[in-house]
Amino acid sequence: MSFNILTLCYLIGSLTFIIGLKMLSHPETARKGNLVAAFGMTIAIFGTIFLYRENGEGLHNYIWIFGGLIVGTAVGFFVAKKVQMTAMPEMVSLFNGMGGACAMLISIMEFKHIFSNAMAFPKDGPADFYIIYEHLSHLKMLIIVLGMVIGAVSFAGSMIAWGKLNGKVKDFSFPGQTYVNLVLLIGLISYIAFYIFKTPVLTTEFGFAATATDGTLGSTGIWKEQIYLFYGILALAVVYGVMFVLPIGGADMPVVISLLNSFTGMAAAFGGFLYGNQVMLTGGILVGAAGTLLTLLMCKAMNRSLKNVLLGSFGATAAKAGGTKEQGNYKEISLSDASTIMAYASKVMIVPGYGLAVAQAQHICHELEKLLEEKGVEVKYAIHPVAGRMPGHMNVLLAEADVSYDKLLEMEDANEEFKSTDVVLILGANDVVNPAAKNDPSSPIYGMPILEVETAKNVIVNKRSMKPGYAGIENDLFFAPKTSMLFGDAKAA
Ligand code: NDP
Repeated sequence: MSFNILTLCYLIGSLTFIIGLKMLSHPETARKGNLVAAFGMTIAIFGTIFLYRENGEGLHNYIWIFGGLIVGTAVGFFVAKKVQMTAMPEMVSLFNGMGGACAMLISIMEFKHIFSNAMAFPKDGPADFYIIYEHLSHLKMLIIVLGMVIGAVSFAGSMIAWGKLNGKVKDFSFPGQTYVNLVLLIGLISYIAFYIFKTPVLTTEFGFAATATDGTLGSTGIWKEQIYLFYGILALAVVYGVMFVLPIGGADMPVVISLLNSFTGMAAAFGGFLYGNQVMLTGGILVGAAGTLLTLLMCKAMNRSLKNVLLGSFGATAAKAGGTKEQGNYKEISLSDASTIMAYASKVMIVPGYGLAVAQAQHICHELEKLLEEKGVEVKYAIHPVAGRMPGHMNVLLAEADVSYDKLLEMEDANEEFKSTDVVLILGANDVVNPAAKNDPSSPIYGMPILEVETAKNVIVNKRSMKPGYAGIENDLFFAPKTSMLFGDAKAA
């Protein structure tokens, strides 16, 4: 009976994940979608705790389970409550890393479970005769190892991404790093293949007795070797995770972040497969698939290849490139002049960027939009896919301020409309409008499609200073004849 109710709990969990994910794809329903999925997750968790049975026995280590749940919930709750909107991307990276770490630990525990059983019960008698509770096949070992490796890469990579987003970890690269990463990746894959085929296959016979089908189970020595080799793979996976994210700089972090996200999903799916847990499998597959799609979209948006992401071979020159060129003079504009130009325009396009989030100027920006519309000005927003510090950052900000979704133009549409726009008002954006991405092959952002604001009649850039954005490079747009700089905090201005 309880088994059926548990299956029902997992079914509810899986369905709410799918419905929640669908609702998350639109700002108006996103908040509810999150709650719907969280509700399903709660049912799945408590269903597992109270209804799960193995050989007729349920879980009994409730102190550990509830201790972990209470500590995790309290930390998650307070961190999420306290976090500034601008620190949100770092927090998402940190949480993603925790997901990877969980998947990695599940694999390690499962591995320890199998091998401690294999080593704990050597019997007198034929050397290949052991008491063992596990059936071990190459497939099972592959799932354990892949869950651990992908989880470890995701954990290590997300920790570095977290450090980079909050500025504590600097980009680090050296000549030939791409090749080092390539060797690491090939080494890791070969090591895994070697390990899987080296694992003795065990078949359960006569209840708890097991023999190695290839007769290799002669002494416990082989198990010790297996254990050392297993932790060797773990160490290599962590090193690879660190090495592939460390050099990523320039404007390319979004691609890596979404890739790490999909890794965590895949690692969780392996965990679900390992335990035969349907809801974990569904959740993992959904996160993995959504993350993979997002990675492909981000790659397309940034004009990068997935191969380069995996080898950490782009954007690495951010610190070296740019910033040294003589730029000439820029033109400043006063607040009253800026408002006059906009009031007399027939079409104004607002380009929001990370600075809008820093200033929390989304509500006041919506006020400006309404004021302009009262004067008969058409107002739209041009959204670059990597503006801000997390995928969809600008959509979330503007939705929070009740900006109508129809007013948000995607990059391609916006680039068409700039030609007929009188004033482009750039609020705290920099890299996403930097023409170096089109004109300067030595720039770390070269090749990334940008918002081509210079085709409009006038460009007003609001930021606090002439400092560069995330990629750390100068922006020629600020020195262009059509551009005027409106200095100040976005909200105050
Ligand atoms: P940028 O980081 O390029 O530029 C933001 C600009 O905002 C800065 O130049 C800054 O200039 C200005 N600014 C900061 N605070 C304020 C404020 N209070 N008021 C007004 N202006 C302010 O942002 P973009 O959105 O143009 O580009 C995003 C960048 O982040 C890209 O390089 C992207 O690749 C990267 N990134 C994106 C992620 C994503 O998933 N979207 C994830 C990780 C990185 P000043 O200091 O002079 O005010």
